[in-house]
Amino acid sequence: KNGDTLYGVVGISISYTECNEPEYLIAQVIDITDRKRVEEQLIHDALHDSLTGLPNRSFLIQQMNQLLTYRERNPDYQFAVIMIDVDRFKRINDSLGHITGDQLLIAIANLLTRRVQASDTVARLGGDEFAILMQRVTDTNQVIQLAEAVQQDLELPFSLVGHEVVTSASLGIVFSQPEYHHGGELLRDADIAMYRAKANGRSCYELFNKDMHIQAMQLLKLEADLQQALERQEFVAYYQPIIDLAAGELVGFEALIRWQHPKRGLVPPNDFIPLAEDNGLIVPIGAWILQESCRQIHAWRQVSDCADHLQISVNLSSRQFRESHFLDHVDAILASAQIPGHCLKLELTERILMQDTDSMINLLHELKKRQIQLSIDDFGTGFSSLNYLHQFPIDTLKIDKSFVQQIDTKNRKSGIVAAIVQLAEALSLNVIAEGIETQEQVSYLRQLNCEFGQGYLFARPLPAADATELLLANRHWPLGEVEVQESLRVNS
Ligand code: C2E
Ligand code: MG
Ligand code: MG
Repeated sequence: KNGDTLYGVVGISISYTECNEPEYLIAQVIDITDRKRVEEQLIHDALHDSLTGLPNRSFLIQQMNQLLTYRERNPDYQFAVIMIDVDRFKRINDSLGHITGDQLLIAIANLLTRRVQASDTVARLGGDEFAILMQRVTDTNQVIQLAEAVQQDLELPFSLVGHEVVTSASLGIVFSQPEYHHGGELLRDADIAMYRAKANGRSCYELFNKDMHIQAMQLLKLEADLQQALERQEFVAYYQPIIDLAAGELVGFEALIRWQHPKRGLVPPNDFIPLAEDNGLIVPIGAWILQESCRQIHAWRQVSDCADHLQISVNLSSRQFRESHFLDHVDAILASAQIPGHCLKLELTERILMQDTDSMINLLHELKKRQIQLSIDDFGTGFSSLNYLHQFPIDTLKIDKSFVQQIDTKNRKSGIVAAIVQLAEALSLNVIAEGIETQEQVSYLRQLNCEFGQGYLFARPLPAADATELLLANRHWPLGEVEVQESLRVNS
């Protein structure tokens, strides 16, 4: 009577007389409105996100599947997906709490919904990831304009209860192409493009292209190969000499890992160490290079008298440092290689020291008790809190090559190098300049009284046999007027 819709189940049965003649019908109507509403709610819930009320990933995939089917019959029809990931959302969540984090997600959902056409779909894929499905795309610019508008919207400060929050987003864009048969494939590629945008420094968008897919597949393959590289003994240690800049003498080597890949050849560490840090393989790989370097210095101590004072520097990643058995492991390696602690120098990054916890400080002191030397690698490029310099038992600063390479005769923009050398002197730390490539750089560093140096001018990282030869030859670098061997000259 009041115009509401009710759902009912109607059942009709026939009533018969004694002579089995149909006499009348009995109609029964059962009101199932409540049951129907619950069903609809369940379907809605399965396809929507409870926090923002937006369609979820399943909904979006279903919708894309329908559009892909439609597209088979209408090849001119185009649609696009923009994947949106809020930059550093985790930090907002961790620092301001989950309630504020949730408020931000709801505010973003509202903003995106207001920005799109009625025929477009805004979905929340999970966490801080959203997507826009844009229908009836006639040209690429239309999508790019929407992406740029969304990006600008998200860079404006959000006023949430009690907080003003500033954020940004990285976007990945993919267009419907004939080779797509399932909505999941579009999401996968939008995701790859979005990660590329993040890698390009965040707060930007990237259009998916096939090369990105190929690269993503290569990365997956690389990761699978990396899993097996240890068993197949494909890692190799190279050793780069470290020179006393006053005397021109060899004082040690830095061990630098290489991967002898069966197909790709010698892979440099920057191509696989970050990957190994992400997936945890850095722990066994790091253990291998530590053990190999200690074994090598023991071998050198056996064959050369000059090796008594020689030190081997090994790079550590923060993940290794956090392992609970790290110290036991170091002890075991020193014992099995039969070398005293002072022969080993561990290169830490400023990032490791940022985890300024009691257990980490304890660990540093335990390493010092064993006379293991500690050095800060790439000094000046990290978070540069000078606080840790007097707080932690550090022996050496390694001046990053980016500073050393600013030294040139015409324009001595080397104030930073001079400042680091002075800082080291004031704190009684050793200092090593990395990446020395020219005579000017070495002369200037010597003027500054920088004690040690390392770089292509002296030698590139060498295979163990070449490093042994150099050690046995008792090689001396006449630094007064450094002679640079043609084979060592930098040509790149
Ligand atoms: P790093 O520890 O700062 O090592 C110095 C890098 O500078 C090395 O690159 C070295 O070959 C390069 N280099 C040395 N002299 C010169 C020079 O004169 N000019 C220039 N342009 N470069 C020079 P490499 O071997 O490619 O290693 C890159 C980074 O990979 C290392 O930087 C280190 O952070 C990491 N790495 C290498 N081996 C290991 C390892 O066993 N474990 C861990 N966790 N990281 C490693
Ligand atoms: Mg290093
Ligand atoms: Mg370095």
